[in-house]
Amino acid sequence: MISPNEKSNEKSKEKSNEKSFDVSKVREDFPILNRTVQGKPLVYLDNAATSQKPKQVISALSHYYENGNANIHRGIHTLSMEATEAHEDTRSIVKNFINAKNEREIIFTSGTTGSINLLASSFSRKYLHEGDEVILSVMEHHSNIVPWQIACEARGARLRVIPMNDRGELLLHEYEKMLSPVTKLVAVVHVSNTLGTVNPVRQIVEMAKRVGAKTLLDGAQAIPHGQVNVRELDCDFYAFSGHKMLAPTGIGVLYGREELLRELPPWQGGGEMIERVTFEKTSYNELPHKFEAGTPNIAGVVGIKAAIRYMEQLGMENMARHENDLLEYATEEIKKLPEIRIIGEAEEKVGVLSFVAEGIHPSDLGSIMDKLGVVVRTGHHCTEPLMDRLGIPGTVRASFAFYNTFEEVDIFIAALKRALTMLG
Ligand code: PMP
Repeated sequence: MISPNEKSNEKSKEKSNEKSFDVSKVREDFPILNRTVQGKPLVYLDNAATSQKPKQVISALSHYYENGNANIHRGIHTLSMEATEAHEDTRSIVKNFINAKNEREIIFTSGTTGSINLLASSFSRKYLHEGDEVILSVMEHHSNIVPWQIACEARGARLRVIPMNDRGELLLHEYEKMLSPVTKLVAVVHVSNTLGTVNPVRQIVEMAKRVGAKTLLDGAQAIPHGQVNVRELDCDFYAFSGHKMLAPTGIGVLYGREELLRELPPWQGGGEMIERVTFEKTSYNELPHKFEAGTPNIAGVVGIKAAIRYMEQLGMENMARHENDLLEYATEEIKKLPEIRIIGEAEEKVGVLSFVAEGIHPSDLGSIMDKLGVVVRTGHHCTEPLMDRLGIPGTVRASFAFYNTFEEVDIFIAALKRALTMLG
């Protein structure tokens, strides 16, 4: 097996040389990329599940625990005030990162799943009534289906589903037909974690607005692949996870338009989300604290700050360009294998290469590739309704990050060929 630093063919050599983005230097920031798996150099192509973390994020976490650990907001002592400042400072960094209007629009959650559950619970109590409708798409992650199912069931509302074509592109004319005054919310994934499709979310939002529906975008996969600008997208809510954008697990964000967040009832009750509590009645805190009950993941927030700084220093556009080049190259190479069928060939696509091989179970391919050091994900990727639509049990998914190399793509293709041969 060749190492990621060796060049395995002329094409990858050419590709590497023509790029100004210095991947080998970037890789020095990610200690885990030096480890081996099953005795082979690690080729990490499971970035859509979670990204690896640079030293800058890891050391921000240990620096916080070694020097700044304290509970926030309620303390008048120096440590607590410093931790509060670090926490609130990050809110402002996140606000700028996604171009929200102000810090009150940034709610820290446990991740995309936490953000959507918060919204589904709160939004449905305020806006969903018997006979109302929530529109999702066929390619949603379970975390943007199940919370809405629970909410619709509780409120007597109904889910509608935007279909897609065989390339994995949503059918907007079908969506248009679904929109009506009973549409209360349109909740759609910005970038599909299974297909890589970049949905035309600006247009989807605009169409929803024509009937007065509110909009939520699931940005879990979009956030690490390019600059997200919530005001340009004009969505009402945007959810994402820290761990897919170099930050730790257990931290995420729900962006919401201030005027709407003000209207929504709180989700969880507890410390920090209150203004005054008596046994008779409780009044709630200002935004965004109204939605942040209990001690938050302070270290996670510190990690997000370091992650955003890191990405801004590298340049989101440089990262995205390199990832797109990798995806294009991997797609070209995999198309040379007649046994392979790519799942998801949308015109607008990022980061993800999903595929199946006729007659071979995806997990068999994945296990052999793991033995060759190549880490890919197999299964339904938490998109079972999408698998049903495609009539397959699952796919093998290789997902790319800016720290992957063209040589790693070659190793991936070589491992795939070997697995296909072994499985006949
Ligand atoms: N939506 C999409 C599109 C995702 O890819 C994921 C994570 N795989 C989620 C939602 C859920 O994110 P988390 O598990 O970080 O809450």
